[in-house]
Amino acid sequence: MRTLAGVDGCPGGWIAAVQHEDGTTALAVHASFQGLLQALPDDAIVVVDMPIGLPETIRGLGRTAETAVRPMLGARRSSLFAIPARAAVEAWDGPHGSETARAAAHARASALARARSEPARGVSRQGFMLFPKILEIDRLLRAEPALAVRIFESHPEAAFAALNGGTAMAHPKKRSGRPNAPGLGERRALLERAGLPPALLLAVRPRGVGEDDRIDACAMLIVARAVAAGRARPFPDPPERDAHGLPVAIWLPRDPLCSAEETGLEAIRTSDGATMTLLPDALVSGYRSFVQGRYLQETQTYRALARDGQTPETMVIACCDSRAAPETIFGAGAGELFVVRNVANLVPPYNPDGEFHGTSAALEFAVQALKVKNIVVMGHGRCGGIKAALTTGAEPLSPGDFIGKWMSILQPVAETVAANELMTSGERQTALERISIRTSIANLRSFPYIAARERAGELNLYGAWFDISTAELWAMDAETGDFQRPLVDVEDAVI
Ligand SMILES: [Zn+2]
Repeated sequence: MRTLAGVDGCPGGWIAAVQHEDGTTALAVHASFQGLLQALPDDAIVVVDMPIGLPETIRGLGRTAETAVRPMLGARRSSLFAIPARAAVEAWDGPHGSETARAAAHARASALARARSEPARGVSRQGFMLFPKILEIDRLLRAEPALAVRIFESHPEAAFAALNGGTAMAHPKKRSGRPNAPGLGERRALLERAGLPPALLLAVRPRGVGEDDRIDACAMLIVARAVAAGRARPFPDPPERDAHGLPVAIWLPRDPLCSAEETGLEAIRTSDGATMTLLPDALVSGYRSFVQGRYLQETQTYRALARDGQTPETMVIACCDSRAAPETIFGAGAGELFVVRNVANLVPPYNPDGEFHGTSAALEFAVQALKVKNIVVMGHGRCGGIKAALTTGAEPLSPGDFIGKWMSILQPVAETVAANELMTSGERQTALERISIRTSIANLRSFPYIAARERAGELNLYGAWFDISTAELWAMDAETGDFQRPLVDVEDAVI
């Protein structure tokens, strides 16, 4: 795969969103366009948000390239800078020592632009400030014409409109010179749908790079991907040439991201008009904070785990209950815990009968392949599975009564506890929660390879019980089976 770069001018020089040959991506800032090119392989495809090719005269609203693209832009029309004639751009003779010198150069450029345009048009101050960057690329391409086969001009707002099925973005990127969250959000969503990794879209920006600069560079990278895949088209088609033979065209992706089959990520409109997205919003925003937080801080860990594989030392067997997640309770990061969760954290007895045994399959992998050193069975308070086991004569939740069958692992002890009228219902619940942990540990030992590894001192079995309301974690005494308060006193710890 060739290296691809999407580039935009930024206060610090040039910001590039780079996709390397191995598919990894990164943001980089270079003081000069030449420096940027030198940092890339000789065949890298570069798409830049900067005019390339300067006509001697301008007719109408700008170059044919701008005239061809402008209708796509709708309310975002003003984002398109109408380039003046070459002589006006070359009137930049900076850097200027003073504001007076700059104003004089601007006036000269404007006069040259008016003289070479029909109808006569001058140059805005904002446009004038782009001239040194336009000239940087222009001089490079004129000195080395072969570069023109791999350096392409594009325009972010036109690219977004093309990706969006021909409809321009609803909101501007900036309002009164300040970042505009809805505008940045809709563009970021398109870039995500186009397949840019969150790490590129959310990573900390280099110094001197605005969020809008990053988004524009990323849009240019999408165009570079389309160019590399032969799925981009020039406006106009074919490109014009300026007097120096430089191509004059704005390149845009040929395909919108509007087909669900193509992207797999398109929101699906249901018959009642509601929008159904692929994942619930809460998950998307949680995922976003994971990427911006933990993943960003631990990128190297994740990469190393991907490269070298997992070697967790501990397996946890826990309940499906949403309030008792082992990774949260034990503060574990990626690669640290091998977890199987099922209703009421039960281990069935060893039973190689050819049926479907999910928990036994996880045990087999953890012990035989990963060679974990510890297995922890963690129960918890207010467990719905345990409550079901203590409730007699209840209707099954479905004809299959999968819960009833699963909880029968605890028979006949569940019946005995349920019938104990000396205990309150709360006491019966806690008692069976703890008995279930001891039962699961006994069942672990019915697996021959687990028993063997435990005998050899290569595997330790533990029991624990988590109290959701107080966050107390009780640990089982291996000798007596009693549960004891753990080392950490929650009240002391939170003060
Ligand atoms: Zn539970």
